Amino acid sequence: MSKYVERVLNETAARNGNEPEFLQAVDEVLTTLDPVLKKNPQYEANAILERMVEPERVIMFRVPWVDDKGVVRVNRGYRIQMNSAIGPYKGGLRFDPTVNLGVLKFLAFEQVFKNSLTTLPMGGGKGGSDFNPKQSPHTPGKRCSDAEVMRFCQSFMTELFRHIGPDTDVPAGDMNVGGREIGYLFGQYKRLANEWTGVLTGKGLSFGGSLIRPEATGYGDIYFAQNMLAMRGETFEGKKCVISGSGNVASFAAQKLMQLGAKVMTLSDRSGAIFCEEGITEKMLKDIMVLKNVKRGELADFAKKTKAVKFFAGQIADKIDAAFPCARQNELNGKDAEYLLKHGCTLVGEGANMPSTPDAIAAFLKAKIMYSPGKASNAGGVATSGLEMSQNSERLSWTAEEVDAKLKGIMKSIHDNAWEAAAKYGDKLREGRRRHGRPGRVLRKPSVCTCESV
Ligand code: NDP
Repeated sequence: MSKYVERVLNETAARNGNEPEFLQAVDEVLTTLDPVLKKNPQYEANAILERMVEPERVIMFRVPWVDDKGVVRVNRGYRIQMNSAIGPYKGGLRFDPTVNLGVLKFLAFEQVFKNSLTTLPMGGGKGGSDFNPKQSPHTPGKRCSDAEVMRFCQSFMTELFRHIGPDTDVPAGDMNVGGREIGYLFGQYKRLANEWTGVLTGKGLSFGGSLIRPEATGYGDIYFAQNMLAMRGETFEGKKCVISGSGNVASFAAQKLMQLGAKVMTLSDRSGAIFCEEGITEKMLKDIMVLKNVKRGELADFAKKTKAVKFFAGQIADKIDAAFPCARQNELNGKDAEYLLKHGCTLVGEGANMPSTPDAIAAFLKAKIMYSPGKASNAGGVATSGLEMSQNSERLSWTAEEVDAKLKGIMKSIHDNAWEAAAKYGDKLREGRRRHGRPGRVLRKPSVCTCESV
Protein backbone atom coordinates (compact mmCIF):
# COMPACT_ATOMS: atom_id res chain seq x y z
CA MET A 1 0.00 0.00 0.00
CA SER A 2 1.39 3.45 -0.87
CA LYS A 3 2.40 5.87 1.89
CA TYR A 4 -0.24 8.31 0.67
CA VAL A 5 -3.08 5.79 1.05
CA GLU A 6 -1.73 4.64 4.41
CA ARG A 7 -1.62 8.23 5.68
CA VAL A 8 -5.17 9.03 4.52
CA LEU A 9 -6.50 5.79 6.04
CA ASN A 10 -4.81 6.58 9.36
CA GLU A 11 -6.14 10.15 9.38
CA THR A 12 -9.63 8.96 8.49
CA ALA A 13 -9.57 6.34 11.24
CA ALA A 14 -8.35 8.89 13.80
CA ARG A 15 -11.15 11.30 12.87
CA ASN A 16 -13.98 8.77 12.56
CA GLY A 17 -12.99 6.08 15.03
CA ASN A 18 -16.56 5.33 16.08
CA GLU A 19 -17.86 4.79 12.52
CA PRO A 20 -16.83 1.21 11.60
CA GLU A 21 -18.99 0.90 8.48
CA PHE A 22 -17.63 4.16 7.07
CA LEU A 23 -14.04 3.09 7.76
CA GLN A 24 -14.71 -0.30 6.15
CA ALA A 25 -16.08 1.35 2.98
CA VAL A 26 -13.17 3.80 2.77
CA ASP A 27 -10.64 1.02 3.33
CA GLU A 28 -12.27 -1.13 0.65
CA VAL A 29 -11.88 1.59 -1.98
CA LEU A 30 -8.60 3.26 -1.04
CA THR A 31 -6.59 0.06 -0.67
CA THR A 32 -7.27 -0.77 -4.33
CA LEU A 33 -6.15 2.58 -5.75
CA ASP A 34 -2.36 2.31 -5.75
CA PRO A 35 -2.03 1.70 -9.51
CA VAL A 36 -4.27 4.72 -10.21
CA LEU A 37 -2.39 6.99 -7.79
CA LYS A 38 0.97 5.95 -9.21
CA LYS A 39 -0.09 7.01 -12.71
CA ASN A 40 -1.70 10.22 -11.45
CA PRO A 41 0.57 12.00 -8.93
CA GLN A 42 -1.58 15.12 -9.24
CA TYR A 43 -4.21 13.39 -7.08
CA GLU A 44 -1.94 13.41 -4.06
CA ALA A 45 -0.65 16.91 -4.83
CA ASN A 46 -4.24 18.17 -4.77
CA ALA A 47 -5.37 16.12 -1.75
CA ILE A 48 -8.07 14.32 -3.75
CA LEU A 49 -8.38 11.35 -1.37
CA GLU A 50 -8.54 13.65 1.67
CA ARG A 51 -11.41 15.51 0.00
CA MET A 52 -13.21 12.30 -0.97
CA VAL A 53 -13.36 10.98 2.60
CA GLU A 54 -14.72 14.20 4.10
CA PRO A 55 -18.39 15.04 3.43
CA GLU A 56 -19.02 18.48 1.98
CA ARG A 57 -21.77 18.91 4.55
CA VAL A 58 -23.53 16.88 7.25
CA ILE A 59 -27.00 17.89 8.39
CA MET A 60 -28.43 16.39 11.59
CA PHE A 61 -31.82 17.33 12.93
CA ARG A 62 -34.60 16.57 15.39
CA VAL A 63 -37.75 14.88 14.06
CA PRO A 64 -40.62 15.24 16.54
CA TRP A 65 -43.90 13.54 15.63
CA VAL A 66 -47.10 12.45 17.36
CA ASP A 67 -48.08 8.76 17.51
CA ASP A 68 -51.64 7.39 17.31
CA LYS A 69 -51.97 7.59 21.12
CA GLY A 70 -51.18 11.30 21.09
CA VAL A 71 -47.67 10.82 22.54
CA VAL A 72 -44.82 12.96 21.18
CA ARG A 73 -41.90 10.89 19.85
CA VAL A 74 -38.50 12.23 18.87
CA ASN A 75 -36.19 10.69 16.25
CA ARG A 76 -33.00 11.89 14.66
CA GLY A 77 -32.80 12.83 10.98
CA TYR A 78 -29.71 13.10 8.79
CA ARG A 79 -28.61 14.14 5.33
CA ILE A 80 -25.00 13.59 4.28
CA GLN A 81 -24.09 15.79 1.31
CA MET A 82 -20.92 13.96 0.40
CA ASN A 83 -19.75 15.25 -2.96
CA SER A 84 -21.27 17.54 -5.61
CA ALA A 85 -18.33 17.66 -8.03
CA ILE A 86 -20.32 16.32 -11.00
CA GLY A 87 -23.93 17.20 -10.14
CA PRO A 88 -26.53 17.71 -7.40
CA TYR A 89 -26.19 15.36 -4.42
CA LYS A 90 -28.19 12.21 -5.14
CA GLY A 91 -28.86 9.21 -2.92
CA GLY A 92 -31.60 7.54 -0.92
CA LEU A 93 -33.18 7.89 2.50
CA ARG A 94 -33.12 4.94 4.92
CA PHE A 95 -35.49 4.61 7.89
CA ASP A 96 -34.18 1.93 10.24
CA PRO A 97 -33.23 1.74 13.93
CA THR A 98 -29.66 0.84 12.88
CA VAL A 99 -29.23 4.17 11.08
CA ASN A 100 -26.50 6.40 12.53
CA LEU A 101 -23.98 8.88 11.19
CA GLY A 102 -21.36 6.22 10.34
CA VAL A 103 -23.79 4.01 8.41
CA LEU A 104 -25.04 6.96 6.36
CA LYS A 105 -21.51 8.21 5.71
CA PHE A 106 -20.56 4.77 4.38
CA LEU A 107 -23.61 4.78 2.11
CA ALA A 108 -22.94 8.35 0.93
CA PHE A 109 -19.30 7.50 0.21
CA GLU A 110 -20.35 4.47 -1.87
CA GLN A 111 -22.95 6.57 -3.64
CA VAL A 112 -20.36 9.02 -4.99
CA PHE A 113 -18.57 6.25 -6.93
CA LYS A 114 -21.77 4.53 -7.97
CA ASN A 115 -23.30 7.72 -9.35
CA SER A 116 -20.21 8.59 -11.33
CA LEU A 117 -20.21 5.10 -12.85
CA THR A 118 -23.65 5.72 -14.33
CA THR A 119 -22.07 8.56 -16.39
CA LEU A 120 -25.05 10.76 -15.44
CA PRO A 121 -24.39 14.16 -13.81
CA MET A 122 -25.13 13.23 -10.20
CA GLY A 123 -23.10 13.89 -7.06
CA GLY A 124 -23.38 11.62 -4.02
CA GLY A 125 -25.44 11.89 -0.83
CA LYS A 126 -27.46 9.76 1.57
CA GLY A 127 -29.83 10.37 4.45
CA GLY A 128 -32.41 8.90 6.74
CA SER A 129 -33.44 8.41 10.30
CA ASP A 130 -33.37 5.94 13.18
CA PHE A 131 -37.19 5.84 12.91
CA ASN A 132 -38.48 2.24 12.76
CA PRO A 133 -41.68 1.96 10.72
CA LYS A 134 -41.71 -1.79 11.45
CA GLN A 135 -42.23 -1.33 15.21
CA SER A 136 -45.04 0.74 16.66
CA PRO A 137 -43.75 2.81 19.58
CA HIS A 138 -46.76 1.86 21.73
CA THR A 139 -47.80 -1.69 20.74
CA PRO A 140 -45.09 -4.38 20.83
CA GLY A 141 -45.09 -6.64 17.74
CA LYS A 142 -47.15 -4.18 15.67
CA ARG A 143 -45.97 -1.90 12.88
CA CYS A 144 -46.48 1.86 12.77
CA SER A 145 -49.80 2.74 11.19
CA ASP A 146 -49.92 4.57 7.84
CA ALA A 147 -50.95 7.73 9.71
CA GLU A 148 -47.91 7.48 12.00
CA VAL A 149 -45.57 6.97 9.05
CA MET A 150 -47.20 9.97 7.35
CA ARG A 151 -46.77 12.23 10.39
CA PHE A 152 -43.15 11.14 10.75
CA CYS A 153 -42.41 11.77 7.05
CA GLN A 154 -44.05 15.19 7.15
CA SER A 155 -42.02 16.22 10.19
CA PHE A 156 -38.81 14.84 8.62
CA MET A 157 -39.41 16.87 5.46
CA THR A 158 -40.32 20.01 7.42
CA GLU A 159 -36.63 20.33 8.27
CA LEU A 160 -35.07 18.58 5.25
CA PHE A 161 -36.84 20.71 2.62
CA ARG A 162 -34.61 23.76 3.21
CA HIS A 163 -31.49 21.71 2.39
CA ILE A 164 -32.64 20.03 -0.85
CA GLY A 165 -33.87 21.04 -4.32
CA PRO A 166 -33.87 19.77 -7.90
CA ASP A 167 -30.48 21.40 -8.58
CA THR A 168 -29.07 20.97 -5.05
CA ASP A 169 -29.87 17.57 -3.62
CA VAL A 170 -32.39 14.98 -4.85
CA PRO A 171 -33.16 12.19 -2.32
CA ALA A 172 -34.87 8.87 -3.14
CA GLY A 173 -35.84 5.69 -1.28
CA ASP A 174 -33.69 3.05 0.42
CA MET A 175 -34.47 0.48 3.11
CA ASN A 176 -38.00 0.99 4.49
CA VAL A 177 -38.53 4.01 2.26
CA GLY A 178 -40.69 2.97 -0.69
CA GLY A 179 -43.54 4.47 -2.70
CA ARG A 180 -45.68 5.21 0.39
CA GLU A 181 -42.96 7.16 2.18
CA ILE A 182 -41.78 9.01 -0.97
CA GLY A 183 -45.41 10.08 -1.53
CA TYR A 184 -45.72 11.55 1.98
CA LEU A 185 -42.29 13.24 1.72
CA PHE A 186 -42.99 14.67 -1.74
CA GLY A 187 -46.41 16.02 -0.71
CA GLN A 188 -44.89 17.84 2.25
CA TYR A 189 -42.03 19.27 0.15
CA LYS A 190 -44.48 20.56 -2.44
CA ARG A 191 -46.56 22.20 0.23
CA LEU A 192 -43.61 23.91 1.92
CA ALA A 193 -41.73 24.98 -1.20
CA ASN A 194 -44.90 25.87 -3.13
CA GLU A 195 -43.49 24.32 -6.29
CA TRP A 196 -43.68 21.06 -8.20
CA THR A 197 -40.18 19.94 -9.07
CA GLY A 198 -38.44 16.59 -9.41
CA VAL A 199 -36.94 16.99 -5.94
CA LEU A 200 -37.41 13.31 -5.02
CA THR A 201 -37.16 10.25 -7.23
CA GLY A 202 -38.98 6.96 -6.82
CA LYS A 203 -42.27 8.89 -6.99
CA GLY A 204 -45.57 7.23 -7.88
CA LEU A 205 -46.39 7.11 -11.59
CA SER A 206 -49.38 9.40 -11.13
CA PHE A 207 -47.21 12.24 -9.79
CA GLY A 208 -44.04 12.25 -11.84
CA GLY A 209 -42.43 8.87 -11.26
CA SER A 210 -40.67 6.90 -13.95
CA LEU A 211 -41.71 3.53 -15.31
CA ILE A 212 -39.15 0.83 -14.36
CA ARG A 213 -37.76 2.85 -11.40
CA PRO A 214 -39.10 0.32 -8.81
CA GLU A 215 -37.62 -2.55 -10.82
CA ALA A 216 -34.37 -0.82 -11.74
CA THR A 217 -31.94 -1.81 -8.96
CA GLY A 218 -32.87 -5.51 -9.04
CA TYR A 219 -33.07 -5.66 -12.83
CA GLY A 220 -29.80 -3.75 -13.15
CA ASP A 221 -28.04 -6.18 -10.81
CA ILE A 222 -29.07 -9.05 -13.05
CA TYR A 223 -28.22 -7.18 -16.27
CA PHE A 224 -24.72 -6.60 -14.88
CA ALA A 225 -24.38 -10.32 -14.07
CA GLN A 226 -25.67 -11.17 -17.55
CA ASN A 227 -22.77 -9.13 -18.97
CA MET A 228 -20.29 -11.03 -16.80
CA LEU A 229 -21.76 -14.37 -17.93
CA ALA A 230 -21.73 -13.28 -21.57
CA MET A 231 -17.94 -12.91 -21.38
CA ARG A 232 -17.87 -16.68 -20.87
CA GLY A 233 -20.54 -17.40 -23.43
CA GLU A 234 -23.05 -18.36 -20.71
CA THR A 235 -26.63 -17.35 -19.93
CA PHE A 236 -28.87 -17.65 -16.88
CA GLU A 237 -30.95 -20.43 -18.46
CA GLY A 238 -31.31 -23.21 -15.86
CA LYS A 239 -28.90 -21.63 -13.35
CA LYS A 240 -29.67 -22.20 -9.67
CA CYS A 241 -29.68 -18.85 -7.87
CA VAL A 242 -29.96 -17.82 -4.23
CA ILE A 243 -31.11 -14.35 -3.18
CA SER A 244 -31.14 -12.78 0.28
CA GLY A 245 -33.73 -10.16 1.18
CA SER A 246 -37.29 -9.91 -0.11
CA GLY A 247 -37.61 -6.15 -0.40
CA ASN A 248 -37.39 -3.91 -3.43
CA VAL A 249 -34.01 -5.01 -4.76
CA ALA A 250 -34.37 -8.72 -3.99
CA SER A 251 -37.86 -9.15 -5.41
CA PHE A 252 -37.11 -7.49 -8.77
CA ALA A 253 -33.77 -9.32 -9.05
CA ALA A 254 -35.82 -12.52 -8.58
CA GLN A 255 -38.34 -11.44 -11.20
CA LYS A 256 -35.65 -10.72 -13.81
CA LEU A 257 -33.85 -14.01 -13.07
CA MET A 258 -37.10 -15.92 -13.61
CA GLN A 259 -37.69 -14.08 -16.91
CA LEU A 260 -34.21 -15.19 -18.00
CA GLY A 261 -34.91 -18.84 -17.22
CA ALA A 262 -33.00 -19.12 -13.93
CA LYS A 263 -34.25 -21.02 -10.88
CA VAL A 264 -34.62 -18.71 -7.85
CA MET A 265 -34.42 -20.99 -4.82
CA THR A 266 -34.35 -18.58 -1.87
CA LEU A 267 -35.54 -15.25 -0.53
CA SER A 268 -35.22 -14.02 3.06
CA ASP A 269 -36.20 -11.39 5.61
CA ARG A 270 -35.69 -10.74 9.32
CA SER A 271 -37.96 -13.70 10.18
CA GLY A 272 -35.76 -16.21 8.25
CA ALA A 273 -35.53 -17.57 4.72
CA ILE A 274 -37.62 -19.63 2.35
CA PHE A 275 -36.18 -22.39 0.19
CA CYS A 276 -37.93 -23.84 -2.83
CA GLU A 277 -36.13 -26.77 -4.44
CA GLU A 278 -38.03 -26.43 -7.73
CA GLY A 279 -37.62 -22.67 -7.89
CA ILE A 280 -39.95 -19.98 -6.61
CA THR A 281 -42.72 -19.44 -9.18
CA GLU A 282 -43.90 -16.11 -10.59
CA LYS A 283 -47.20 -16.58 -8.72
CA MET A 284 -45.34 -17.12 -5.41
CA LEU A 285 -43.22 -14.03 -6.06
CA LYS A 286 -46.31 -11.94 -6.75
CA ASP A 287 -47.84 -13.12 -3.46
CA ILE A 288 -44.58 -12.32 -1.63
CA MET A 289 -44.52 -8.81 -3.10
CA VAL A 290 -48.07 -8.19 -1.89
CA LEU A 291 -47.20 -9.68 1.52
CA LYS A 292 -44.11 -7.47 1.94
CA ASN A 293 -45.30 -4.22 0.32
CA VAL A 294 -49.05 -4.12 0.98
CA LYS A 295 -49.77 -6.37 3.97
CA ARG A 296 -46.28 -5.63 5.37
CA GLY A 297 -46.00 -9.19 6.67
CA GLU A 298 -43.16 -11.71 7.12
CA LEU A 299 -41.89 -14.63 5.00
CA ALA A 300 -42.49 -16.95 7.98
CA ASP A 301 -46.26 -16.38 7.43
CA PHE A 302 -45.87 -17.11 3.71
CA ALA A 303 -44.02 -20.36 4.41
CA LYS A 304 -46.80 -21.55 6.74
CA LYS A 305 -49.32 -21.23 3.90
CA THR A 306 -47.21 -22.57 0.99
CA LYS A 307 -46.47 -26.31 0.84
CA ALA A 308 -43.76 -26.09 -1.86
CA VAL A 309 -41.46 -23.92 0.23
CA LYS A 310 -39.45 -24.76 3.33
CA PHE A 311 -38.71 -22.19 5.97
CA PHE A 312 -35.29 -22.24 7.60
CA ALA A 313 -33.15 -20.07 9.80
CA GLY A 314 -29.66 -21.18 8.73
CA GLN A 315 -27.84 -22.07 5.53
CA ILE A 316 -29.05 -24.42 2.82
CA ALA A 317 -27.28 -27.35 1.24
CA ASP A 318 -27.69 -27.56 -2.50
CA LYS A 319 -25.93 -26.82 -5.73
CA ILE A 320 -25.68 -23.06 -6.13
CA ASP A 321 -24.61 -21.39 -9.38
CA ALA A 322 -25.05 -17.75 -8.45
CA ALA A 323 -25.76 -15.67 -5.35
CA PHE A 324 -27.28 -12.21 -5.07
CA PRO A 325 -27.03 -10.62 -1.60
CA CYS A 326 -29.80 -8.00 -1.67
CA ALA A 327 -30.65 -7.27 1.98
CA ARG A 328 -28.14 -5.11 3.88
CA GLN A 329 -24.49 -4.35 4.64
CA ASN A 330 -22.20 -7.08 5.98
CA GLU A 331 -24.82 -9.82 5.62
CA LEU A 332 -22.41 -12.24 3.88
CA ASN A 333 -19.29 -13.14 5.88
CA GLY A 334 -16.25 -15.31 5.22
CA LYS A 335 -18.03 -18.44 6.41
CA ASP A 336 -20.98 -17.82 4.09
CA ALA A 337 -18.55 -17.19 1.22
CA GLU A 338 -16.84 -20.54 1.83
CA TYR A 339 -20.26 -22.18 1.91
CA LEU A 340 -21.20 -20.69 -1.45
CA LEU A 341 -17.89 -21.66 -3.02
CA LYS A 342 -18.12 -25.19 -1.65
CA HIS A 343 -21.51 -25.59 -3.29
CA GLY A 344 -20.28 -24.55 -6.72
CA CYS A 345 -21.11 -20.85 -6.78
CA THR A 346 -19.23 -19.08 -9.58
CA LEU A 347 -20.99 -15.71 -9.58
CA VAL A 348 -21.80 -13.23 -6.80
CA GLY A 349 -23.65 -10.08 -7.87
CA GLU A 350 -24.11 -7.63 -5.00
CA GLY A 351 -27.53 -5.97 -5.02
CA ALA A 352 -27.22 -4.44 -1.56
CA ASN A 353 -24.62 -1.88 -0.53
CA MET A 354 -21.45 -3.50 0.92
CA PRO A 355 -23.22 -6.83 1.70
CA SER A 356 -19.97 -8.84 1.69
CA THR A 357 -17.48 -8.49 4.54
CA PRO A 358 -13.80 -8.01 3.62
CA ASP A 359 -13.01 -11.69 4.31
CA ALA A 360 -15.89 -12.77 2.06
CA ILE A 361 -14.56 -10.56 -0.75
CA ALA A 362 -11.07 -11.99 -0.22
CA ALA A 363 -12.49 -15.52 -0.57
CA PHE A 364 -14.28 -14.63 -3.85
CA LEU A 365 -11.17 -13.01 -5.30
CA LYS A 366 -8.98 -15.93 -4.26
CA ALA A 367 -11.38 -18.38 -5.89
CA LYS A 368 -11.41 -16.19 -9.05
CA ILE A 369 -15.17 -16.35 -9.42
CA MET A 370 -17.19 -13.60 -11.05
CA TYR A 371 -17.81 -10.99 -8.37
CA SER A 372 -19.39 -7.55 -8.81
CA PRO A 373 -19.25 -4.99 -6.00
CA GLY A 374 -22.55 -3.27 -5.22
CA LYS A 375 -21.34 0.13 -6.26
CA ALA A 376 -21.18 -1.20 -9.83
CA SER A 377 -23.94 -3.79 -9.96
CA ASN A 378 -26.65 -1.95 -8.00
CA ALA A 379 -26.13 1.36 -9.81
CA GLY A 380 -29.20 0.72 -11.99
CA GLY A 381 -31.49 2.20 -9.32
CA VAL A 382 -29.82 5.55 -9.14
CA ALA A 383 -29.25 5.56 -12.90
CA THR A 384 -33.00 5.25 -13.41
CA SER A 385 -33.52 7.96 -10.80
CA GLY A 386 -31.31 10.09 -13.04
CA LEU A 387 -33.63 9.21 -15.93
CA GLU A 388 -36.63 10.18 -13.77
CA MET A 389 -34.97 13.59 -13.16
CA SER A 390 -34.53 14.05 -16.92
CA GLN A 391 -38.18 13.18 -17.59
CA ASN A 392 -39.32 15.60 -14.86
CA SER A 393 -37.21 18.40 -16.34
CA GLU A 394 -38.58 17.73 -19.82
CA ARG A 395 -42.14 17.31 -18.45
CA LEU A 396 -42.28 14.07 -20.44
CA SER A 397 -42.77 10.39 -19.58
CA TRP A 398 -40.84 7.75 -21.43
CA THR A 399 -42.25 4.28 -22.10
CA ALA A 400 -41.20 1.27 -20.02
CA GLU A 401 -39.36 -0.12 -23.06
CA GLU A 402 -37.40 3.11 -23.48
CA VAL A 403 -36.35 3.26 -19.82
CA ASP A 404 -35.50 -0.44 -19.69
CA ALA A 405 -33.36 -0.14 -22.84
CA LYS A 406 -31.48 2.81 -21.33
CA LEU A 407 -31.02 0.88 -18.06
CA LYS A 408 -29.61 -2.12 -19.95
CA GLY A 409 -27.27 0.18 -21.89
CA ILE A 410 -26.04 1.86 -18.68
CA MET A 411 -25.36 -1.49 -16.94
CA LYS A 412 -23.45 -2.69 -19.99
CA SER A 413 -21.38 0.47 -20.11
CA ILE A 414 -20.57 0.18 -16.37
CA HIS A 415 -19.44 -3.40 -16.96
CA ASP A 416 -17.39 -2.48 -20.03
CA ASN A 417 -15.84 0.52 -18.27
CA ALA A 418 -14.74 -1.83 -15.50
CA TRP A 419 -13.04 -4.01 -18.12
CA GLU A 420 -11.33 -1.01 -19.66
CA ALA A 421 -10.18 0.40 -16.30
CA ALA A 422 -8.84 -3.02 -15.37
CA ALA A 423 -6.91 -3.16 -18.62
CA LYS A 424 -5.48 0.30 -17.98
CA TYR A 425 -4.45 -0.26 -14.38
CA GLY A 426 -3.62 -3.95 -14.44
CA ASP A 427 -5.68 -5.78 -11.83
CA LYS A 428 -6.86 -9.33 -11.53
CA LEU A 429 -9.49 -8.82 -14.19
CA ARG A 430 -6.76 -8.13 -16.74
CA GLU A 431 -4.84 -11.17 -15.58
CA GLY A 432 -7.99 -13.18 -16.28
CA ARG A 433 -8.18 -11.64 -19.72
CA ARG A 434 -4.57 -12.51 -20.52
CA ARG A 435 -5.07 -16.08 -19.49
CA HIS A 436 -8.41 -16.65 -21.12
CA GLY A 437 -8.57 -14.45 -24.19
CA ARG A 438 -9.30 -10.94 -25.35
CA PRO A 439 -12.42 -9.01 -24.31
CA GLY A 440 -15.36 -9.95 -26.42
CA ARG A 441 -14.15 -13.51 -26.86
CA VAL A 442 -15.58 -16.33 -24.85
CA LEU A 443 -13.80 -16.92 -21.56
CA ARG A 444 -13.59 -20.50 -20.48
CA LYS A 445 -12.97 -19.89 -16.81
CA PRO A 446 -14.48 -17.53 -14.25
CA SER A 447 -13.31 -13.94 -14.49
CA VAL A 448 -13.23 -11.45 -11.67
CA CYS A 449 -14.71 -7.98 -11.66
CA THR A 450 -12.97 -6.36 -8.73
CA CYS A 451 -13.28 -3.11 -6.82
CA GLU A 452 -10.05 -1.97 -8.50
CA SER A 453 -11.78 -1.88 -11.83
CA VAL A 454 -14.63 0.33 -10.69
P1 NDP B 1 -36.07 -3.00 1.53
O1 NDP B 1 -36.33 -2.35 2.83
O2 NDP B 1 -37.11 -2.97 0.48
O3 NDP B 1 -35.66 -4.54 1.75
C1 NDP B 1 -34.65 -4.91 2.63
C2 NDP B 1 -34.74 -6.40 2.83
O4 NDP B 1 -33.66 -6.80 3.66
C3 NDP B 1 -36.02 -6.85 3.53
O5 NDP B 1 -36.42 -8.08 3.02
C4 NDP B 1 -35.57 -6.94 4.99
O6 NDP B 1 -36.37 -7.82 5.78
C5 NDP B 1 -34.17 -7.51 4.81
N1 NDP B 1 -33.37 -7.23 6.00
C6 NDP B 1 -33.02 -6.01 6.49
N2 NDP B 1 -32.32 -6.15 7.63
C7 NDP B 1 -32.22 -7.48 7.84
C8 NDP B 1 -31.61 -8.26 8.87
N3 NDP B 1 -30.95 -7.69 9.88
N4 NDP B 1 -31.69 -9.62 8.77
C9 NDP B 1 -32.36 -10.21 7.73
N5 NDP B 1 -32.97 -9.51 6.74
C10 NDP B 1 -32.90 -8.16 6.80
O7 NDP B 1 -34.70 -2.34 0.99
P2 NDP B 1 -34.14 -2.32 -0.48
O8 NDP B 1 -34.48 -3.58 -1.18
O9 NDP B 1 -34.51 -1.03 -1.10
O10 NDP B 1 -32.56 -2.25 -0.20
C11 NDP B 1 -31.79 -3.41 0.05
C12 NDP B 1 -30.31 -3.08 -0.10
O11 NDP B 1 -30.07 -2.55 -1.42
C13 NDP B 1 -29.77 -2.02 0.86
O12 NDP B 1 -28.42 -2.29 1.11
C14 NDP B 1 -29.87 -0.73 0.02
O13 NDP B 1 -28.97 0.27 0.47
C15 NDP B 1 -29.44 -1.27 -1.34
N6 NDP B 1 -29.85 -0.47 -2.47
C16 NDP B 1 -31.17 -0.17 -2.70
C17 NDP B 1 -31.53 0.56 -3.80
C18 NDP B 1 -32.97 0.84 -4.14
O14 NDP B 1 -33.22 1.38 -5.23
N7 NDP B 1 -33.93 0.48 -3.30
C19 NDP B 1 -30.52 1.13 -4.71
C20 NDP B 1 -29.17 0.66 -4.45
C21 NDP B 1 -28.88 -0.07 -3.35
P3 NDP B 1 -37.67 -7.26 6.55
O15 NDP B 1 -38.71 -7.05 5.49
O16 NDP B 1 -38.00 -8.33 7.52
O17 NDP B 1 -37.26 -5.97 7.20
